[in-house]
Amino acid sequence: MRGDCYAAAMDSDVLDCQECGACCHSDLASSVRVTGDDYARLGDLAESLTVFIGNRCYMRLLGTHCVANTRDVDGRFGCSSYDRRPDVCRDLERGSSACRAERFNKLARTLVTTPIR
Ligand code: SF4
Ligand code: SF4
Repeated sequence: MRGDCYAAAMDSDVLDCQECGACCHSDLASSVRVTGDDYARLGDLAESLTVFIGNRCYMRLLGTHCVANTRDVDGRFGCSSYDRRPDVCRDLERGSSACRAERFNKLARTLVTTPIR
């Protein structure tokens, strides 16, 4: 269970991506970069899941979470495009300093911004 954000961010024993979802949340439209290879991998989903800002492509945000971010009836997070997700998502290693920074900065907002669907 998630408790205090700071404690949860620092406690490597409780890291469970489906309980977390922090790195799939952002206020920045440019948070999840989609490269040309990523776009090709998304295939027929690319147009609906991405947005171009200038000549750069990103995962589209829905509110303050990636449009591909989901929650099941138990409140667990998922990715509707997990097998096709961009490299930047694949490269973020659970438990790394980058992961902990995401949790520290964003964990609280995940409680309210992703509807269960
Ligand atoms: S990689 Fe880290 S920040 Fe992302 S969902 Fe997993 S535990 Fe959370
Ligand atoms: S593509 Fe999937 S893993 Fe990447 S930010 Fe969006 S929901 Fe998260």
